[in-house]
Amino acid sequence: MSKTWYPVINYSTCLECGVCVNKCSHGVYEKETNTPKVIFPEGCIEGCTGCQKLCPSSSIEYVGQEFKNGNLNCECNCNC
Ligand code: SF4
Ligand code: SF4
Repeated sequence: MSKTWYPVINYSTCLECGVCVNKCSHGVYEKETNTPKVIFPEGCIEGCTGCQKLCPSSSIEYVGQEFKNGNLNCECNCNC
């Protein structure tokens, strides 16, 4: 269970193909629609990129990803 790692969809590039929705078996996405809607982020498995790998338009990123890669993506140099 993770609250610090879950998918965030870029709806401006999402094709609404439903691949990510169908891929996840952890209840993270609402299953009734092909438009990915994250309804249970706690179900996402820390470090899993299963749905991201299958996304044809690279529309999935993760909360927590920058931290995992050691890149805070922040230029303020406060080392937070
Ligand atoms: S990263 Fe894995 S567990 Fe998380 S939503 Fe995608 S397929 Fe499901
Ligand atoms: S796999 Fe990618 S393009 Fe398809 S619905 Fe999910 S986020 Fe959108």
